[in-house]
Amino acid sequence: MPSAFITGITGQDGRHLAEFLHGQGYDVFGMVKGQNNPKAAQVVDEMPFVELVPGDLADLPSLVAALEQAQPDEVYNLGAISFVALSFSQAELTANTTGLGVLRMLEAIRMVGGTQNNRIRFYQASSSEMFGKVRETPQTEMTPFHPRSPYGAAKVFGHDITVNYRESYGLFACSGILFNHEGPRRGIEFVTRKVTNAAARIKLGLQNELVMGTLDTKRDWGYAGDYVRAMWLMLQQDEPDDYVIATGETHSVEELVELSFAQVGIDNWRDHVRQDPKFYRPAEVDLLIGDATKAREKLGWIPEVDFETLVKMMVDNDLQLEAAKAGITLS
Ligand code: GDP
Repeated sequence: MPSAFITGITGQDGRHLAEFLHGQGYDVFGMVKGQNNPKAAQVVDEMPFVELVPGDLADLPSLVAALEQAQPDEVYNLGAISFVALSFSQAELTANTTGLGVLRMLEAIRMVGGTQNNRIRFYQASSSEMFGKVRETPQTEMTPFHPRSPYGAAKVFGHDITVNYRESYGLFACSGILFNHEGPRRGIEFVTRKVTNAAARIKLGLQNELVMGTLDTKRDWGYAGDYVRAMWLMLQQDEPDDYVIATGETHSVEELVELSFAQVGIDNWRDHVRQDPKFYRPAEVDLLIGDATKAREKLGWIPEVDFETLVKMMVDNDLQLEAAKAGITLS
């Protein structure tokens, strides 16, 4: 059986990818950091087939030990401080984990067997946040980077060092430049889940208002379940390369809010939404829209879930979840 090692196993993408790889017949190892990590228990409950391995992206010896234990064929580096807003207040931590963590993982792979026999294949979770103040629209693999947050800057380093290790040491290393991807497992701090959850709670009478930052920014939002398939496809090719993964459609935060409320039958969404500058960021990414032509042509990858279906999926899930928590029976 092939085996895969995933950092960020407790996050949205880690959980989707673990399920996908398990379905493909892989032995799946997931790295967890810290003592008694509460999210690890959730992974154990949800996916008993995953073997958890201790390790931390801030600690190179722990990565070497983890790879020696797992002996994987493929490494997926999804672990990061992943929330842009937090990266402004914890910039050094973000640089260390999201940026330098990639370098440490690449070094660990070289030490444990990535180059001598070219055995371990590496996937780096690069991000559309690297495009930031976009230089062209839509964004492709050739678009220059101009990050607008410590998170974006750290991801640029992770991306560039992955390309550099591929070119310098012949590692089979790929970067997926993934545009925003969401789903029912998205953390509540991200705008999609915050909005779908609030729409559900307001509908159920559990919450009165939704307090937001800007409604003007636009994102290319896809479904996480579609995007993890692209990660795997990249590592199955003859040659390592970098790919943009996106839907090619963009929508504003305002459209997200309007659609989420419409989904629960509330048309006057403005009566429930207030804006507060505390959610504004020191610098913004105004518009993202990706061109995934290369992924379609070389990987045969196409997204299956569109924006409307994604929002419906998330709102319906939040309705069920919040109703169950509050002991409300949905009609
Ligand atoms: P990002 O693209 O990685 O920053 O993903 P997010 O989901 O955190 O944010 C997407 C966009 O929504 C950004 O332009 C945010 O400024 C905007 N936004 C507006 N209000 C909020 C909010 O209350 N929470 C979050 N997370 N984002 C918000």
